Amino acid sequence: MIKIAVYGKGGIGKSTTVSNVAAALAEKGLKVMQIGCDPKADSTMQLRHGEAVPTVLELVNQRKNDFELEDMVRIGFGGVVCVEAGGPTPGMGCAGRGIITALEKLKEKGAYEVYQPDVVLYDVLGDVVCGGFTMPMRKGYADKVFIVTSGENMSIHAAANIAMAIDNFKNRGYASLGGLILNRRNVKREDEKVAELADDFKTSVVGTLSRSEQVLLAEEKQQILLEAFPDSEMADEYRKLAEQILAVCEARG
Ligand code: ATP
Ligand code: MG
Repeated sequence: MIKIAVYGKGGIGKSTTVSNVAAALAEKGLKVMQIGCDPKADSTMQLRHGEAVPTVLELVNQRKNDFELEDMVRIGFGGVVCVEAGGPTPGMGCAGRGIITALEKLKEKGAYEVYQPDVVLYDVLGDVVCGGFTMPMRKGYADKVFIVTSGENMSIHAAANIAMAIDNFKNRGYASLGGLILNRRNVKREDEKVAELADDFKTSVVGTLSRSEQVLLAEEKQQILLEAFPDSEMADEYRKLAEQILAVCEARG
């Protein structure tokens, strides 16, 4: 089982990227599970044509332990197994704590044994790299972290913080950095800036995604790009990224 966490600044394109990579891997015949670790619980939304997945935290809050694994899992485009950790009402409790509870509950209910995914993708909001938001990179969860960034300074700053957190935790058997994913915003010196960031953390840029109008058109249809425009160049960019992510995970164990 390959376990990957994708981090990045809010709004940088994590959920869009993860969902399309998930679908690209599913297209190859792999069994994929996508776990949204963001209180907004919208990671898998486009894989399900806008239909929400009941969050693990909602279930825990409403029914304590009186629910089944199937209650917190829905199937999305391409057969991707969709889960949303969920979170508290904004301002009403610790979002990080929510992620810890949700991931523990998934394990406890046997999600990984029952669905036996070949690849698990955690989509994690990376603005706060504290407490529960590091949960997906802890031992037993993801093995590799990929960080989505553009060349915008705020995004690079957030990516550097995440990379630093990974570095700080390396002696604890946490996940290691798999690489950066450049999701273009077409700012000046974008490739150079992201390549410099990769150098600083002795990693590489594993894939580059164009800024594409088609991604937004697909979103309007409540679909991922791979469903709306499967024959487009952009779809091939996601497929190529999926291959590169797999290659990194397989090469470095
Ligand atoms: P959040 O932190 O809020 O969860 P996110 O990092 O998951 O955000 P997304 O929701 O995936 O980001 O994307 C934010 C917006 O950017 C969406 O409208 C999405 O369609 C758009 N977007 C993402 N990638 C691209 C791209 N390559 N080209 C064009 N638009 C994109
Ligand atoms: Mg998101």
